[in-house]
Amino acid sequence: MKSKPANNIQDLQFFGEFGGVNPSISDSSTYTFLSANSMSETFEGNIEGCYLYSRNSSPSNLYLEEACAALEGTEAANVFSSGMGAITATILQLCKSEDHIISSRTVYGGTYAFLKNFTPQLKIETTFVDITSLDDINNSIKPNTKIIYCEVSSNPLLEIADLKEISKIAKKNNIKLVVDNTFTPLSVSPAKYGADVVIHSLTKFINGTSDTIAGVVCSSKEFIHSLRDVNDGAFMLMGTTMDSLRAASVLKNMRTLHIRMKKHSENAMYLAESFEKDGIKAVYPGLKSHPSHKIFSKMMNKEYGYGGMVTIDAGSLETANKLMEKMQDKNLGYLAVSLGFYKTLFCAPGSSTSSEISDEEQEKMGLNEGLIRFSVGLDQDISRTYEGIKKCLKEFNLI
Ligand SMILES: *Cc1c(COP(=O)(O)O)cnc(C)c1O
Repeated sequence: MKSKPANNIQDLQFFGEFGGVNPSISDSSTYTFLSANSMSETFEGNIEGCYLYSRNSSPSNLYLEEACAALEGTEAANVFSSGMGAITATILQLCKSEDHIISSRTVYGGTYAFLKNFTPQLKIETTFVDITSLDDINNSIKPNTKIIYCEVSSNPLLEIADLKEISKIAKKNNIKLVVDNTFTPLSVSPAKYGADVVIHSLTKFINGTSDTIAGVVCSSKEFIHSLRDVNDGAFMLMGTTMDSLRAASVLKNMRTLHIRMKKHSENAMYLAESFEKDGIKAVYPGLKSHPSHKIFSKMMNKEYGYGGMVTIDAGSLETANKLMEKMQDKNLGYLAVSLGFYKTLFCAPGSSTSSEISDEEQEKMGLNEGLIRFSVGLDQDISRTYEGIKKCLKEFNLI
């Protein structure tokens, strides 16, 4: 396993058609064939390097896919028009009617809704577990369990999955481990610890400019081919394809991911430590007070830090809302969902990004309504930002 993800991305050499330093954009939905015979072989998936139709694959998408595979150290990758497109296709490719899934109970709201409300209509049942409890996972395994699904650092509670141990359980029981690594690109390489499929919403840190929706699945050649199969591939048949122009754009943004992740992590660590020092309850895997600090420290690629996501507890939804409005007013960040932007973004997940989860279940998993999730930006002077935040905290008597 290659262990230098940023080097692996940087070492890829793609030239444009006229020697351009960026690869040419493939602005075509369909491709000509010199011989009719090679068209039918391409349809059957037998010819490498031949393109048939851009819903299946296109040169621009393949460049981005190579970069994503290099990022995660997997054999191959497939890009999608959204992170949810990548997640749903993976789940439907691996599970058929009467199959069973074990999922962390703290996952992205859309993923939770898909597993809780949508897949049961297809007779695919999910048991939601506390992903930090290996016993809970072990006890939930059934003969028809096909997937263990989790996020490296969960949304929004930042619970950490011990990938090495969870993967041992998966392998022993012949179950696929599917990991959403959207919160921690470069920081953690899940395939290194045995994840079979690694998913990203490219919308977030990897693209980093909040100008598009996009996703990717990184896995073995075999699994990626199965997703693209013209007869029964969930990607090919559900048609969640990324446009070539967008693939070229995401690839260019990905060139600076390593620099951005270091800065996001550095700034997030500063804010988390400052909150804690001032007596605000903060959750961040980089803090020694985080229950899985040691597990994350062991898993991480050190130079990229603990990621850009921090949460604090403002006590009540009312205070959280007032605080967020004030912080936006003072230009300390934007009151917006999503993550990975140059500007700090904050929201109260209980009433926004995780509102698919019922109040009762939110309480059970420890998702307080006053929780504020920060995607910490690339601020040049984070101490100045914190001074601004501190003034807002004082105004609402939080410190
Ligand atoms: C945003 C997000 C998704 C969904 O991705 P889209 O690109 O919005 O479809 C999935 N998982 C996590 C952890 C996310 O943050």
